[in-house]
Amino acid sequence: RAKKAGGDRWVLHEDGLLSPEEERARKVGELREALANGQLLLHYQPKFEVASKRLAGLEALVRWNHPQRGELAPGEFIPLAEETGLIAEIGEWVLGRAVAQLREWEDWGYEPVPVSVNLSPIELQREGLAGRIEGLLAKLGLPARLLELEVTESSMMRDIDPVLSNLTELRRLGVGIAIDDFGTGYSSLGQLARFPVDTIKIDKSFIQSSREDEPAPIVESIVNLAHGMKLKVVAEGVEDERQLRLLSRLHCELAQGFLFSRPLPAREIEERYWKKSAAR
Ligand code: C2E
Ligand code: MG
Ligand code: MG
Ligand code: MG
Repeated sequence: RAKKAGGDRWVLHEDGLLSPEEERARKVGELREALANGQLLLHYQPKFEVASKRLAGLEALVRWNHPQRGELAPGEFIPLAEETGLIAEIGEWVLGRAVAQLREWEDWGYEPVPVSVNLSPIELQREGLAGRIEGLLAKLGLPARLLELEVTESSMMRDIDPVLSNLTELRRLGVGIAIDDFGTGYSSLGQLARFPVDTIKIDKSFIQSSREDEPAPIVESIVNLAHGMKLKVVAEGVEDERQLRLLSRLHCELAQGFLFSRPLPAREIEERYWKKSAAR
């Protein structure tokens, strides 16, 4: 019971005692309102080149500024959004917001780095994804290389045909494709080789698993596999200098994590990175 994290318990709400079904319906209603009333926002977490320490990209991560509960992480509402189908609208909003931000940065004269957007399995399988993204980029006059999509292995394997056709078309446009949380899925390498991807992001659990002054064998294997397939590698969840040193020894190209920066609001990204480089 405890494992379901409150999913089957009655909860006390200001309107009275709610059954699990009522509580769920209330949450869905709230999430719908959040979308309509502009309570969702994006934070951006930088990615850096390991060798030069240069800013190489930004990952957009959604947050919900809840009127009573404050800022909620995606783990608190994305699963419900996926179960109810609301994720399609949230995903559209995230993509639209991310490219609008890129447009703004370019208009202000900053030289933007690519922005990555996480896609849920439902979005990745939906027909016409590539066409919608093409239209979005064209409308704002943005080159496709400024957008990257992060997809997980399990979402790619769920319904291979529509996913393959979306990814192939996106790749043709020049949109970057990264496999997120690599190593945590259960896809076969043979299957993976069929997908047009350019980047592998090693899951943070592996980055954080090495204890000694040696890279974890799984991290070394993933880096070698990626390089053998001519793919770029990003290490996620880098929290200390030791982890970074090990990654640099393996020639891992990019790193992301609290060592460099937490996800930040757009304004803080501007303060920290754009203004500094503009002043140089
Ligand atoms: P992800 O795409 O793998 O994102 C990385 C998560 O790890 C982020 O959590 C980030 O804040 C966190 N993180 C980054 N560096 C470190 C570190 O050094 N140490 C630790 N312990 N954690 C680190 P966040 O923002 O809570 O996002 C969680 C997940 O929610 C994401 O995992 C992604 O799968 C999903 N997500 C986020 N935004 C979106 C979105 O717009 N759409 C969809 N469909 N999913 C999203
Ligand atoms: Mg991601
Ligand atoms: Mg990840
Ligand atoms: Mg993740």
